[in-house]
Amino acid sequence: MGWKELDQTYLAHAYGRFDMEAASGQGAVCKDADGREYIDFTSGIGVNSLGWCDGDWAAAVGKQAATLQHMCNLYYTEPMAKLGKTLCERTGMKKVFLCNSGAEANEGIIKTARKYSFDHYGKGRHTILSLNNSFHGRTITTLSATGQDAFHQYFDPFTEGFRFIDANDLNGLKKAADETVCGILIELVQGEGGVVPLEPDFVDGIARICAEKDILLMVDEVQTGMGRTGKLLCCEHYGIQPDLLSLAKGLGGGLPIGAALMGGKCADTLRPGDHGTTFGGNPVVCAGANVVLEKLTGELLDEVAAKGDYITERLLKMPGVKSVEGRGLMLGITLDKGDSKKLAAQCLEYGLLILTAKAKLRMLPPLTISHAEIDRGLKLLNEVLSL
Ligand SMILES: *Cc1c(COP(=O)(O)O)cnc(C)c1O
Repeated sequence: MGWKELDQTYLAHAYGRFDMEAASGQGAVCKDADGREYIDFTSGIGVNSLGWCDGDWAAAVGKQAATLQHMCNLYYTEPMAKLGKTLCERTGMKKVFLCNSGAEANEGIIKTARKYSFDHYGKGRHTILSLNNSFHGRTITTLSATGQDAFHQYFDPFTEGFRFIDANDLNGLKKAADETVCGILIELVQGEGGVVPLEPDFVDGIARICAEKDILLMVDEVQTGMGRTGKLLCCEHYGIQPDLLSLAKGLGGGLPIGAALMGGKCADTLRPGDHGTTFGGNPVVCAGANVVLEKLTGELLDEVAAKGDYITERLLKMPGVKSVEGRGLMLGITLDKGDSKKLAAQCLEYGLLILTAKAKLRMLPPLTISHAEIDRGLKLLNEVLSL
């Protein structure tokens, strides 16, 4: 049996996979088991921020693996402390809890919001407002926080204490923000929901209400963070400073990591025993994340923004493209017609890896993708859209 058949036999059928076996990669070019090349407009799903097998990243990860691969969280390690310092300094947050995924980072900020409120107001002020069409993860609680009915099946009972409002409906939000609410959780660009950016006035309004009512502003930057939109945080585009922030996907450059970051209000909410994880803050993973942060310089972030503009301009000239949404290298392509899933499968046949989000094609290329790689990928996409 080949690996594909073994996978189908032994791996839980939780994913509908494309028919490709990835074998190796370099930059934004992936090779399959037969040595065929593909241009990567996915970076996993926004994970390989430096592309495949960046030399400095791989060296730091390899060196750390050969030095100290794990230590439990009862002791200090250098890569973890260094990552904490850099993350806080560069995001304006005060403390960070390191974990292993986006869902876990969101669990961390949800727990912190509830405990902050419990510490200051006692029991009962535990509601978290979230947005319709949001996505916050696959654990029972983060599914509960996800504002899409499709995710609220089969797994009852879900976690209580979440309520949903429409994006950009400030009046609805004002009504919903009653005395039971401890936090408002948002993605600034809804990723899985179809690459839908929030309106700046709505985000301003949320920040104002949060400040007035001592409700914690919780921003899920699992997908939008780590340079994806041309700033380290998408928050910078909106001029907001969250009380709680979650990061994951691009943070580790390809290794599993999540981060729940706390602002001044709730920097000391979590005390020993309140929260924990065995693997969180793993030194190998942190060594990789430290390289990612070193490489996300202002210059690189400006390039991300410029590449996004260039790609958008080119896309808008392609057949069947109605509009392009998103920012930087997080782009959703609205098509005149056609099934985005089928188009993505056709792109694969032509040698291009691309994602979908609902009815849109979605691009999350590595932040380091070269202009030559962009042009190669866009040429393939244009061919598929011209079929
Ligand atoms: C991917 C994603 C998550 C979940 O991250 P996992 O690492 O899959 O748990 C949460 N929020 C947003 C916005 C995401 O895009």
